[in-house]
Amino acid sequence: MWWLWPVVGVAIGYLVASRFGLSIQKCVAGGLLLGPLMVAVLFLHTDSPAREPVTCSYCGQGIIKLARVCPHCGAILVSGW
Ligand SMILES: [Zn+2]
Repeated sequence: MWWLWPVVGVAIGYLVASRFGLSIQKCVAGGLLLGPLMVAVLFLHTDSPAREPVTCSYCGQGIIKLARVCPHCGAILVSGW
């Protein structure tokens, strides 16, 4: 199953590039070199601004900034706050 390494690497590289708006060539090349280790890049990028934690103004629980509905109390959140 040695061929899975570059295939998974390229797939993850492409995923990372499209998800975070990075250069697809660079990410695919990085995926080829790092293989599944590119998964680590996904986790390192989880602290990007879109996922920065915010607090629900209704229940006070931590939620991600992209959330439109609070997963804790179900309140509908207005975007852009
Ligand atoms: Zn809430």
